[in-house]
Amino acid sequence: TQERENLTYPLFGEAVRELAQTIADDGFEPDIILSIARGGLFVAGALGYALGVKNLHVMNVEFYDGVGSTLDMPVMLPPVPNVVDLSRKKVLVADDVADTGRTLELVHDFCAGHVADVRCAVIYEKPQSLVKCEYVWKRTDRWINFPWSVQPPVVRRKGQVLDA
Ligand code: 5GP
Repeated sequence: TQERENLTYPLFGEAVRELAQTIADDGFEPDIILSIARGGLFVAGALGYALGVKNLHVMNVEFYDGVGSTLDMPVMLPPVPNVVDLSRKKVLVADDVADTGRTLELVHDFCAGHVADVRCAVIYEKPQSLVKCEYVWKRTDRWINFPWSVQPPVVRRKGQVLDA
């Protein structure tokens, strides 16, 4: 058995189509897809096309490493979506993976009380996740390589003349 879960771009394409089909078969018709940047942007964009939803919103959530502390917690970074935009809407929260589930919990709690319905869709969910997502493509307890983050950022090559 492999020690890592390896998602390629072609497999990602199949995964989101299957995830969208599961959502459609369930009869859930979201008004808004709320993506969690950055990994969730890929999932939200693809689900938006597959479900025919054009209303996409973004939330920036990052795990904050408390200085001199072992406490890590997810924090919302600006711009934070306007809750008025979400009010009484059916919201589908999209992310790449629910690991501890704390990121999705934060977004779920942000929506709760404002929206008509909030459900979560992820490509992967791990067994320890404290949020149980309504829509999951695959369950795994392994570390996942995502195609968008498996490689480091590009660096500028030498010898390129960009300024004339
Ligand atoms: P959480 O623990 O809040 O559910 O997930 C936080 C974030 O950690 C995820 O959105 C993702 O960016 C990152 N993460 C968690 N598990 C994995 C993994 O197995 N592989 C990768 N590449 N990132 C992960």
